[in-house]
Amino acid sequence: MEITDIEPIFADRYLFVRVHTDAGITGLGESGTWGFLEASAGALETFERYLVGQDPLEIEHHWQACYRNAHFRGAAIMGALSAIDIALWDIAGKYHDVPAHRLLGGPTRQKARVYAHVYGETTEDLLRGCELAKERGFTAVGHLNPLGDEPRSKPYERTHVEELELATDRVARFREAVGTDVDLCIEIHRRLDPEEAIALGRAIEPYHPLFFEDPTRPDNFDAMARIADAVDIPIATGERIHTSHEFEMLLSRNAVDFVRPDVCMVGGLSHAKKIAALAEAHYAKVVPHNPLSPVSTAACLQLAAAIPNFAIQEYPYKQDGGEPGRELLVEPLERDGGYLRIPKGPGIGVELDDEAIADHPYEPRSVLTRQHADGSVVDM
Ligand SMILES: [Mg+2]
Repeated sequence: MEITDIEPIFADRYLFVRVHTDAGITGLGESGTWGFLEASAGALETFERYLVGQDPLEIEHHWQACYRNAHFRGAAIMGALSAIDIALWDIAGKYHDVPAHRLLGGPTRQKARVYAHVYGETTEDLLRGCELAKERGFTAVGHLNPLGDEPRSKPYERTHVEELELATDRVARFREAVGTDVDLCIEIHRRLDPEEAIALGRAIEPYHPLFFEDPTRPDNFDAMARIADAVDIPIATGERIHTSHEFEMLLSRNAVDFVRPDVCMVGGLSHAKKIAALAEAHYAKVVPHNPLSPVSTAACLQLAAAIPNFAIQEYPYKQDGGEPGRELLVEPLERDGGYLRIPKGPGIGVELDDEAIADHPYEPRSVLTRQHADGSVVDM
């Protein structure tokens, strides 16, 4: 079997890839570099020149060849490599007529616990989101930012004490709203400096969040370790880093309890499984990052079913109901209360619907930076 074509597919706000073979089997993957998908598609073109004519089943060899041949690092390249890796596991599963997780040593579980997204600008919006998720059968909510999801067009202006007291009060009210039936995955989206994150983290300890996610920007692993050391809530981080080496640096500093590899950015299923093994050696658990389409969700479910230390899966679920991108699939994923079932079909278990793809033109992103009242850039 030989690879004949690498086909990038832009649709909605996603970049998919189909890897075609001369055996009539095609593999499907997705790039997780959602801020820079055009750059990721450029890297796909470079990889295509190498991959056409190769045996798609030599997955690890192609991974190493693509990553190490010209050792430039970065998310755009890793998003492309991840999309290809996922597509090659899809091909391998279809070739052997088994789900990809069977080739990765699974299944370790039959369904994967998920957390629903909650977002909103006001306390009332956020509380309603928590209550709706509970009513819909979810046992955890995430993307849940006690600083609120204010529009980027609105200049930021709050005193330190106002921000701290508002966020602490909101977490107390989230807990009151859902009781002990629902875990709170508190997400800061990199918006605080370490000393602010420590103050907020300590203030919300009594409400027992499942984790405190990206309390500060991810570039400095020692800063994350300082927060992890000072706050008695598990730290979740990793969605913006993209190699096993960086995860090892976080783990070796005790800077993370829940690693958040994005299967579509850390090098696909091949590398996500290695990151899970590094985490396992540190008794850390895996919460795959997934703000993308159900193709990414399907790849995440293959990982969940192949590793022992899976904790919970991020599941984009709109507050007004439904899974974004669901209509792009031939057969949607199946939810069972607070879980998604592991797809039983060969490969990653899902296929794109070509007609639906044609009906969802690509929506390119721009730079959408929020500003402080003084005109300077605010992290979002
Ligand atoms: Mg996040």
